Amino acid sequence: MAETRTQKAVCRECGKPFEVELFPVLINVGREPSYKEDIKNGSLFTRVCPHCGAVNMVLAPLLYHDPDARIIIWLNPQGPAQGQDFTDTMKADDLKGYTLRKVEDAGSLIEKVRIFEAGLDDAAVEMCKFVSGQELNAKGLRFRGFAGADNEMEFIFPRNGQMHSVKVGFNVYEDSRAILARNPSVVPGGLFPKIDSDWTEQVFG
Ligand SMILES: [Zn+2]
Repeated sequence: MAETRTQKAVCRECGKPFEVELFPVLINVGREPSYKEDIKNGSLFTRVCPHCGAVNMVLAPLLYHDPDARIIIWLNPQGPAQGQDFTDTMKADDLKGYTLRKVEDAGSLIEKVRIFEAGLDDAAVEMCKFVSGQELNAKGLRFRGFAGADNEMEFIFPRNGQMHSVKVGFNVYEDSRAILARNPSVVPGGLFPKIDSDWTEQVFG
């Protein structure tokens, strides 16, 4: 059995300390499918303050493993007291055929799970986000899923303190895939590549 992890939190609303029970370090959604929904709706990363009832975010390293889709996403938050390197414990043979990714925040993990569940290539989706972000003059786009009868991709983004949504035609995704297929070297390599807006800014910005 995995040991229970706890974390001391300070409520963002009332400022009082409380202790939260964290999610497991290793989450295998093949064995425990309910975790996938908890990640997608964000509840894995939220805890209610026992003093005032405010919802607080919690964050800790975790390794998301979807054995059926052959996906492993390593959430490795930046900052102090982080950094258990899961890659030490992995053998290359066990990882054949796997898509491996590293993310540094909960929102990015949630988005990756949505992208892979939609059967999309995350590098091409990042390109779509970059192009759409430039057109909208917006940053922080996140993939939500497909929307509408025409199979458009839906992205959400913050503006003036509110979340907005934009639909992008699937042709933009197909164009992005084609560009990446012609230029495979622009996609980050390494065991756990980080494929995100930092990457698209670097390559296309
Ligand atoms: Zn509170």
